Amino acid sequence: MNEPSAVARRLILLVDDDPGTIQVLYRTLSSYGDVRFSTSAAEGLQMARDLQPDLLLLDFEMPGISGLEVCRQLKADPRTADIVVMFVTSHHETDLEVQAFEMGAVDFIAKPVRPVVVQARVGTQLRLKALADALRQAALKDGLTGLANRAAFEAQLAWEWRRALRAAVPLSLLMVDVDHFKRFNDKYGHLGGDAALQQVAAQLQRATQRGGDLAARFGGEEFVVLLADTGGQAAQQLAERLCAAIAAVAIDVESSSEPARVTVSIGVATFDARSVEPSFGAAPKPATLVAAADRTLYAAKAAGRNQVVFEPLDASNPARLATARAAPTG
Ligand code: GH3
Ligand code: MG
Ligand code: MG
Ligand code: MG
Repeated sequence: MNEPSAVARRLILLVDDDPGTIQVLYRTLSSYGDVRFSTSAAEGLQMARDLQPDLLLLDFEMPGISGLEVCRQLKADPRTADIVVMFVTSHHETDLEVQAFEMGAVDFIAKPVRPVVVQARVGTQLRLKALADALRQAALKDGLTGLANRAAFEAQLAWEWRRALRAAVPLSLLMVDVDHFKRFNDKYGHLGGDAALQQVAAQLQRATQRGGDLAARFGGEEFVVLLADTGGQAAQQLAERLCAAIAAVAIDVESSSEPARVTVSIGVATFDARSVEPSFGAAPKPATLVAAADRTLYAAKAAGRNQVVFEPLDASNPARLATARAAPTG
């Protein structure tokens, strides 16, 4: 048996209407993680949503909601779909087992429970869950800079966009591009270039500590900063601060005794859902915010680089807003 302590502290939820089973499982698993429990299926379902445990040990038969239904609801919701569900049951019918696996459960534990068997099976599932978590995490991260990657950005943008429309709050986007980066690479080499990108990323990370902020690598030497609940003025101020902070950073490059510097150009776009009337045709799509920030970035480059240009997508900019509404893609 593997050392339970070799696995990082995880959260295990037990849901069973039989307090005796809960008691045994609780004692059996307390060294495998933080264990919480409920003897009610409805309460257990809510706890799973609130606590997002790694592992749920679920009784098949409970009054009210069945274990199968609890599992179905968890798997149908993206916020709880990754919780690993194991059934604890005295049923041995093949079709029930098949149904449970089809519903997304990973294992069965037979009642009456035998502690060593429970530990072995739970240990295995917790190790797999830790690995899956790490892979999911890595899939959303940029390897060079440690920032969120493009895929993570697209997902968050879609989510924040829907929230901006629903809650009628502004949403801002900064598109950040390193100036004359081809020259920088030519002068300091690709490793010097990589160090510069890491420094730019560090500045972006530092500027986006708020809950609704996300800095991401969009691709190459282009970055994005998504600012939830943030209007045009605040977004421009943040962009100006970033522009100055990045220009001030001394970058260590091995190929040069002098520290190197880069500047960035930043396009800022803000969508204000308060100016969207539901009667006015289709709602704009998130891609229109990216397109607007891209346009303003281009304007900042054309105006001489190392600067910020802003474009509102709201009632003060009716032509752009109308274009945004007509945009076909999302
Ligand atoms: P501009 O001011 O107009 O943006 O000019 P630029 O030279 O920055 O733009 P361009 O698109 O011509 O060049 C971008 C360069 O960024 C070319 C590419 O080799 C470099 N680049 C992209 N990704 C990386 C990377 O991961 N590491 C390094 N070192 N360079 C990269
Ligand atoms: Mg029961
Ligand atoms: Mg570029
Ligand atoms: Mg560039």
